[in-house]
Amino acid sequence: MSDNVARGAIDLVIEPAEKDLGGFSVRRVLPSGRRRMVGPFIFFDHMGPARFAAGQGIDVRPHPHIGLATITYLFEGEIMHRDSLGFVQPIQPGAVNLMTAGRGIVHSERAGDDRQTESRLHGIQSWMALPESIQETAPAFVHYPSGDLPRVTGAGSRTTIIIGRALGETSPVDVHASMLYLDVNLAATHSYPLPAGYDELAVYVVDGELEIDGARYGAGVMAVAQDGVVPTVTAVSDAHFMVIGGEPLGARHIWWNFVSSSRERIEQAKQDWSVGRFDEVPGETEFIPLPED
Ligand code: MN
Repeated sequence: MSDNVARGAIDLVIEPAEKDLGGFSVRRVLPSGRRRMVGPFIFFDHMGPARFAAGQGIDVRPHPHIGLATITYLFEGEIMHRDSLGFVQPIQPGAVNLMTAGRGIVHSERAGDDRQTESRLHGIQSWMALPESIQETAPAFVHYPSGDLPRVTGAGSRTTIIIGRALGETSPVDVHASMLYLDVNLAATHSYPLPAGYDELAVYVVDGELEIDGARYGAGVMAVAQDGVVPTVTAVSDAHFMVIGGEPLGARHIWWNFVSSSRERIEQAKQDWSVGRFDEVPGETEFIPLPED
């Protein structure tokens, strides 16, 4: 099992806090106390795997975001996205929902409309900070069906290129900075060199066990590479992992669902949400109130 000691290619090991959101557990990896961001990635939540009885499911009521882009990517289950631009989009495994908040967007995330049967949910939600010059860009939402993403089979490996360029293929997911996001399955004993060309890199183990530079990393752990180092990972058992990376964008403030390089801008967003100055989500009447400080 891992510890928090840096070894060779790995600068830091993050063991996330597990939060129970009412029968549904989430592992929050970023931001962590010792590492706020990896490239533009400022938030990384591993949801589930969870099983819901008939009639149950997630219900994240409408809430606002600024200054970031969110990316939802599922392994199992379905989430219905609704936003203040009027988009209503179910997302299923292998697809991408990319929501750019920019100057402000409101959305809800709920179980699919069909709650007649037992359901499962497993996936990753992450947020990327926006470059400072476009933090206040117009909000946008784009859905990429599963078939749009390049999938590459190698020796013992299967890679989905969610964002960026790897293994000679480039994802069509259009983001605002140089970054990388991969979903990799790697069979036991096989090795996998991470792609070069990204300043910061980290590996998150969804399932199984990896070895990197002589140290082992189990499920639920993020291993962050030394800056500029491109590690090779080896699967100790059949493993499923995510790779994130990219160019650093500079420090960001993060408070609740708001990200900005400016603390004053976050205060403005808090004020705006508390007095109802964000746009509404058509068809929704509920909302999540601003948390207490
Ligand atoms: Mn959200």
